This record gives sequence, C-alpha cells and structure tokens, in this order.
Amino acid sequence: MIKVAKFGGSSLASDEQIKKVGQIIKNDPDIRGVVLSAPGKRNDSDIKVTDLLIRLFKEYSNSSDSYIKTMDKIIERYRQIGEGLNLDCDFIETYKIELNQMLENIDDDFYLENALKSCGEDFNARLIARYLNTIGLKARYVSPKEAGIELDYVLNEPIISDRTYENIKKLRDIDELIVMPGFYGVNKQGEILTFLRGGSDISGAILARGLGCDIYENYTDMSYIYSAHPKMIDSPKPIRNITYAEIRELSYNGFEIFQEDAVEPLLNQNIKICVKNTNKPYEGGTVIEQDRSDVDSNPVVGISNVGKFISFNITEYLMNRKVGYINKLLDIFEYQHIPVEHIPTGIDSLSILIRKEHIKSESEMQSLKNAIDENFAYNKFNIKDNLASIAIVGEGLTNDMTRALYLISKSLNEEDIKIEFIIQGASNNSLFLFVDEKDEKLATEKLYSYFM
Ligand code: ASP
Repeated sequence: MIKVAKFGGSSLASDEQIKKVGQIIKNDPDIRGVVLSAPGKRNDSDIKVTDLLIRLFKEYSNSSDSYIKTMDKIIERYRQIGEGLNLDCDFIETYKIELNQMLENIDDDFYLENALKSCGEDFNARLIARYLNTIGLKARYVSPKEAGIELDYVLNEPIISDRTYENIKKLRDIDELIVMPGFYGVNKQGEILTFLRGGSDISGAILARGLGCDIYENYTDMSYIYSAHPKMIDSPKPIRNITYAEIRELSYNGFEIFQEDAVEPLLNQNIKICVKNTNKPYEGGTVIEQDRSDVDSNPVVGISNVGKFISFNITEYLMNRKVGYINKLLDIFEYQHIPVEHIPTGIDSLSILIRKEHIKSESEMQSLKNAIDENFAYNKFNIKDNLASIAIVGEGLTNDMTRALYLISKSLNEEDIKIEFIIQGASNNSLFLFVDEKDEKLATEKLYSYFM
C-alpha cells in the first residue's frame, strides 16, 4: 500500500501541531510522500502566513514601509516554530534574504505576488523536512520545480500540464520520504504560479497520482466532513462516504474543507481520498471515491449554504424569437469578468444569477445596469440583491427527484418560506434553492430535518 499525506495549515500552525504530524508519519510506513501547507491560524484571531504574505505584497507594491514589519512577523513565525522543534534556527535568516531578493528581482507584480505567496508552504516544507530528520525519519525536501509540477496559465487560472504526472513518476526512485510544499508549481519559464486558495489539496492529489498511490490522506482539524455547516445546524451528521462528484459540488458551493479542484487529478485513477484529523488520527474519517454503495439508503449527502446571490431579471416581449439574446446579455457580464452561475429562462423573461462577492463596488453595479439599459429594449428589469442559495447534494437525487421536491415543498411550506428560484443542477446530483437572506437559517434547518 502506498499513501501520500497532505497536512493543512491548522495541522502545521505551531510546533506542537507539527510534532503530532511527525508522529503520524513515523507511525505509518505506507506514507511515501507528504505535502505541506503554510502555517495556518493558531486561534481565531491569528493570521495565516499566506495572508501575511499577501499583505506583504500589497504593502510593498503600494510603496508602504509597513511591509518590513510584516516580513519580520512572517520570519518570527518560522523562528518560533523552529525553536519549538529544537532546531538550530540559523537557516531562518536565509528566508528573509530570499524574500528580499524576490522583492528586488521580480519586476512583474503578477509573478512577484505568486512567488511571495508560495513562500508560506516552501519555507514550512524545508523546515519540517529538517525536523523529520531529527526524529529518525529519512526525509527529503523536494520542490514542485524538482518534482516537475508544470502549470500553464489559461484564462486566468493555473492548469496542470499533462507532462506533470510523467515528471513526477521519476520521484518513485527516491528512497527517502518525499516532503513537498503544496500550493504551487512552475510555468515553462520556471516562474512560480500558485493555485487558488486552499490549493495544497491539489498538490497532494498530483503527488498521489504521480507516485501511483492507493490512498491520499488529507489531514485537517476535523474528523469528518459534516453534512451541513455547524453554524446552521447543531451537530450535523458526519459523512462517511462521498463521491468525487458530490464533494466537488459541495466544496464549490460552500463546504470549505476540501478544494474542489483537487478531485480532478484523481478521476479514474482508483485513488481514495481519506479526510482525517491530525489531533485524532485514529478516529473515523470521510472516504471520498468514484462511487459509493449507500446511495439508496443515503440519497442526499449534504446541504450547504452557498452564499449570497444577486438576480437580474429581464422581461422583454417576444424574447423567445430573438436568437442570441442570452449571448448578448452574457457578453456584458463577461466584459466585466463576472462569472454567471445560473440562467433560468421563460418565454419572455430570463434571470441571471451571480454570486454577490463578484460585484466589488457600487460603481461596478452601476456600470452593469447602464450596460443593460443601453443595450436592451426591455419591458421590465429588476434586481434582487438579498438572495441566499442553499444546495442539496447527493447522487440519489438522480432517481429520486420527485421525493426531493416533495420534501422541499413540505418543509418550507410549514414555515411559509418563499422560494425565489429552484434550479436543478445539470448533473442531476444537486438542487439549488434561492430564498430571502432572512429565511436562510430556518430554511436550512427545515430542509436538513427532512432530508437528513
Ligand atoms: N496556504 C494556502 C492558503 O492559505 C494554500 C493551502 O493552505 O492549501 O490558501
């Protein structure tokens, strides 16, 4: 059996946490490689190192001297960790030198931000590789560049190149435990590119596939993925089995425990993902795989709160005859780089639903409205900006849509909650409800009690 284990920021936030990680690795000879995040939060008011690095970049590019303080804070964080692990910490000085070199040598802001952000995981992996050697493991730091994680940048997103998995196969010859920083790779020119936030999960999946693993263990601070957000539901049920498609849907739509893009490298590879708890490694765990056998008894696996939405509703008589109408409207959103989530349509009307977070300012909203005003001879146009979306997700919906719709109507009707929109996901494993923000919690509770 071969495993890759990925440890998230909360598992690596302090020396005490890293000692637990060391024990997990020591106790499991099947672990061939580990992928590490940057130090996360030690408590609610703490700041993740990645956020400090982003702050450093912003301060530096705004010519504010406060970047020096931020840099010291970052270096101090590693020093504290190193000292807590009884390491000789002279090497931490080189981290500061490297950060300063990046600031001096990388002219392009885009590449500078990417390079700085990658340091959170890179410094941590180098430090932890040293520590693992002090507790009797033979560990070797391998950078994503050495591993061959090659990324192309397509439509503002880093995409894993096909060469990556072939490159990584070469790491199978390494005898030592591979210690790789997560969250980044390099482009053809060798410049650093980071994934989206939470992207160390993707690096873990890439290494697991490249090394030909059976299991990809993903360590966090929770023993399971839960079937709803604890802020909405008291003690939600733990999920024991979930499919790749379900976790992707839930992660994209509000569950924060696993990066949705991390599933893609594992599709059709027969690699199970096990989500585990660094603080209680022997307890439970959620297994994510291609299929699950309990779909009949558990048709729905989770109910998530996707977030706040805005709808743009347009009515124009004879819209049905105007070929290309939707396209013309979508152009406006594309022009402003606003992703569109859903488009329910009728004979003379349509709605565009977008996530509220994509509208950054009042002026962005105004220019959207102006563009619609100028380009469409509509009869009615209104905007609702108080919507909350709730997703019901499960492979069992495919065969049980009638029952699901019955449960939705029954549960929400009992509380007189108005459904503004209801949308069936095209993959048939999800249903999205849109209600007024003020009804979101009650609606979630009612749905949860009926479905789960
Ligand atoms: N450190 C990065 C973040 O905070 C990536 C990760 O932890 O996966 O998003």
